[in-house]
Amino acid sequence: MKSSLLEIIYLLASVTFIIGLKMMGNAKTARNGNLIGAVGMTLAILGTIFLYDGGHQVSTTTFVLIFGAIAIGTVIGWLTAVKVQMTKMPELVSLFNGMGGACAALIGLIEYPHAAETGMGMGGMLCIILGLIIGSVSFSGSIIAFMKLNGTLKKAIRLTAYNMINNVFLLALFAFGAYFLMAASVPVAAIYVLLLMSLLYGVLFTIPIGGADMPVVISLLNSFTGLAAATGGFLYDNQAMQTGGILVGSAGTLLTLAMCKAMNRPLSNVIFGAFGESAKSGSGSGSSIEGSIKDISISDSAILMNYAKKVIIVPGYGLAVAQAQHVIKELENLLEERGVTVKYAIHPVAGRMPGHMNVLLAESNVAYDKLVEMEDINPEFAQTDVVLVVGANDVVNPAAKTDPSSPIFGMPILDVENAQHIIVNKRSMNAGYAGIENELFYNPKTSMLFGDAKDALSKLVTELKTL
Ligand code: NDP
Repeated sequence: MKSSLLEIIYLLASVTFIIGLKMMGNAKTARNGNLIGAVGMTLAILGTIFLYDGGHQVSTTTFVLIFGAIAIGTVIGWLTAVKVQMTKMPELVSLFNGMGGACAALIGLIEYPHAAETGMGMGGMLCIILGLIIGSVSFSGSIIAFMKLNGTLKKAIRLTAYNMINNVFLLALFAFGAYFLMAASVPVAAIYVLLLMSLLYGVLFTIPIGGADMPVVISLLNSFTGLAAATGGFLYDNQAMQTGGILVGSAGTLLTLAMCKAMNRPLSNVIFGAFGESAKSGSGSGSSIEGSIKDISISDSAILMNYAKKVIIVPGYGLAVAQAQHVIKELENLLEERGVTVKYAIHPVAGRMPGHMNVLLAESNVAYDKLVEMEDINPEFAQTDVVLVVGANDVVNPAAKTDPSSPIFGMPILDVENAQHIIVNKRSMNAGYAGIENELFYNPKTSMLFGDAKDALSKLVTELKTL
């Protein structure tokens, strides 16, 4: 009876994960989708604690330990998630992902001695070994990614021939893993050697990758964690764990590929190429653009926009850094009151994580139908009076279309140069994520509105009110 009920709970939980994930694909339903998945996960956890029959009585001390750990984890997770700034989200995801990897590795570590003792079959042993290897790689890799993103580890550390060293190490790791499956008897302590090797590989894999490429790597490590969790699901024949793991694994892989596609970079280039590094060290293009830039004042910007028929706002990473999402909404309201049509052009990799701009602007209640995807908005720039680029750089860099030597060549970009006037707000002439100059800033139609986005937009709003 208990076990049938548990099966039903796992089935229910699996369904909530699938529905939740589907709902996360749309900004309007994403919050509820997240909630539905969380309810399913809570059900699966409680079901396992109270209904799983492991063949022996669970002591009160064990229950106290389990609920103590859940309480501590919940409080820490809740407080961190509530406090985190949107721009720090990839860091947080990386840390949480690392914890998932660690859990999968711990399952392997705990189950291996039992499996060795009872002579578990090949399938179960494969799940244990794979879960341990992939989970550990994901854990140590995610911690390195976290440290790179928060600035503790500033440089990409690249040994000579690191690529070959990593590949040989990976082969050795899997050969050692295979030894556990093939050998008649393996000393139990050897599992700790496998653990150490896997942890080391996670470090070696992540450490040469440029800090700026971390969001893509985190998504890849996320898919590793999903895979590791799924192996746990097969080991325990737990459907909720299987579904959850497979969903995370496949969603992480798809997200990684989607990010690479939107940046027009093969995954191998992310892993072996260190994007911004090569551009900053002089290769790539855009390092010597001829021409001059012109400034624009707040009052001239306000006048230009006030008398426009149509304004397109291009939000980028700088908007998120400045937390200028509320003031930009105020600007939109003021312009619309004056009969100006306002839209937002959303590039798929604007910001530092997928959907960054959508989430940011949803925070200030910008209507979803005003957020227009790149393919749909690009033909509209030619009929636009003013484009206001706020803290965006790479996603409006024409070198992506015109300069084959540029590291972003081939990345689809927003065709803002087709508009009549372009106002670019940023603090300086500093480069963006890809580390390259932007010839758009030297375009005769472009005027630079220098300053922090929140500060400049607030002044623009004040000025507009006087017109
Ligand atoms: P960029 O990183 O290219 O440029 C952001 C610009 O914002 C900088 O040039 C900076 O210039 C400016 N800025 C920073 N702080 C402020 C501020 N407080 N006020 C005003 N401006 C500011 O951003 P984009 O959004 O154009 O492009 C995103 C990049 O990130 C792409 O190259 C993309 O490939 C990459 N990426 C995106 C991922 C995603 O999933 N979205 C994942 C991984 C990478 P200044 O210092 O002069 O102010």
